[in-house]
Amino acid sequence: MHLPYPSQGTLPTAQRHAARPRANLQTGRRWACALLGGLLGLSGLGMTTPLRAEAAASEHVVLVSIDGWAHHYWEDPKCHMPTIKALAAKGAVAKRMQCSFPTVTWTNHTTLVTGVHPGKHGVLANDYWDRAQWKKIPLIPDPIFNKEEIVKSPTIYDVVKQAGGVTAAVIWPASRGASTLDWTVPDVFDQALFEKYSTPQLLAEAKALGIPYEKQMEWCKLGNPGKAPRDYLYSQLAQHLLKTKKPRFLALHLVSLDSFEHAHGRQVPEAYWAANDSDNRVADLMRACAEAGILEKTTFVITTDHGFISYDKVINPNVTLRGMGLQKTTLGRSLDRSSRVFAMGQGGACMVYVLDEANKTQILKDITPRLAELEGVETVVPSQEFASKLGHLTAAQDPREPDLVLSAADGYTFGDSLSDTQVISRQEGVKGAHGYLQSHPHMHGCFVISGAGIKAGAKLGDINNVDVAPTMARLLGLQMPASDGRVLSEALEQP
Ligand SMILES: [Zn+2]
Repeated sequence: MHLPYPSQGTLPTAQRHAARPRANLQTGRRWACALLGGLLGLSGLGMTTPLRAEAAASEHVVLVSIDGWAHHYWEDPKCHMPTIKALAAKGAVAKRMQCSFPTVTWTNHTTLVTGVHPGKHGVLANDYWDRAQWKKIPLIPDPIFNKEEIVKSPTIYDVVKQAGGVTAAVIWPASRGASTLDWTVPDVFDQALFEKYSTPQLLAEAKALGIPYEKQMEWCKLGNPGKAPRDYLYSQLAQHLLKTKKPRFLALHLVSLDSFEHAHGRQVPEAYWAANDSDNRVADLMRACAEAGILEKTTFVITTDHGFISYDKVINPNVTLRGMGLQKTTLGRSLDRSSRVFAMGQGGACMVYVLDEANKTQILKDITPRLAELEGVETVVPSQEFASKLGHLTAAQDPREPDLVLSAADGYTFGDSLSDTQVISRQEGVKGAHGYLQSHPHMHGCFVISGAGIKAGAKLGDINNVDVAPTMARLLGLQMPASDGRVLSEALEQP
């Protein structure tokens, strides 16, 4: 069976994006085939008719993700963020927002726009192990696949576009080449890819205005010193779109807070600075809406993809697996083909792939207790519990899924370098990580919704990030009936 990707052929075709390389299509088809025969089916994907709900309470929704904006910042007096706090005072704020597992960037940005758990939307982690190609395939930062190859559920911008609305996204993860984005730049590092998958007219207008998109890769290569200029650049592009295109839906991803937390840990001076810089970027967008005359008709959704933990110890499960005779490396650099297990890190989570299919059951029996007793391993999730505990499929349903999942305790993260020799290695100084089980309290994120259609002073309690997309759809008079979440009606003026 070889089926096309779910969205292909059912959504409007953009003329501006280059065709996908054939090899990648084939790669994706393998697991698309497995998935489509599994849980997902095709319901909700062949969107030929826009789904309208009631009268729209809002004409424009602006979704901003501040990467790594953990819930503990909200009540932290050292974290100022005056613009967003003012938005919250006039709107609604969640106590905490639970994110998706693994609590990593690509997975959770996709949940925010689809409203479904990762097993359904298909962006399973920042990377996955390809059992056939015998290598780690990066999804971050969209170096290989277009959106239609990896996102298998309708997004809010698909639905808005289907209903005739103008759509825009500025470096939104897993949106590369999306045929339903009228105006976009992708979340990629490489300059050639950035320009190839950006809307040509947007780049032409940016050039005329002196918005320096040609600096994208140079600033990416700078690492953390390039993060604030990048957020400023992306905000300039988003402001231009709000002022001149007045999109019905615009999404913006801000990158600096996450990066400073990775480098220094959570709730440190660098992170407070970055959070406040992100707040300034939100103020930029509000000014642009005011200039465009749409501020009163716009709803702002300011949220995030995951929380953060500080750590100084790294768990290396591959050292244990090698000690058990289940893994061999070539010069500590590549995984020998005789290896039977590989443990792939995702920050505070570890995805364990059993590569010896014939003996998988016995190998899992052998390794599960050994990995569970490693210092710093807090939780072990067998594949029978992937659906109920993680919102994921099993490897039998999607071979990109692992066979076992580990999650670390506070203070630890996972490594997957093949050259490590110690099961636990200590870092010099403290760093930050995410990826842990979505139930870990440090992994919860912030969520603020304010503006058109939102009740002032509403308190939302604990919410889930699958609730965000259907709520945005409802505000725009649309529906996302396949969502795993609910409309946050307690925040709406007209529930
Ligand atoms: Zn992130």
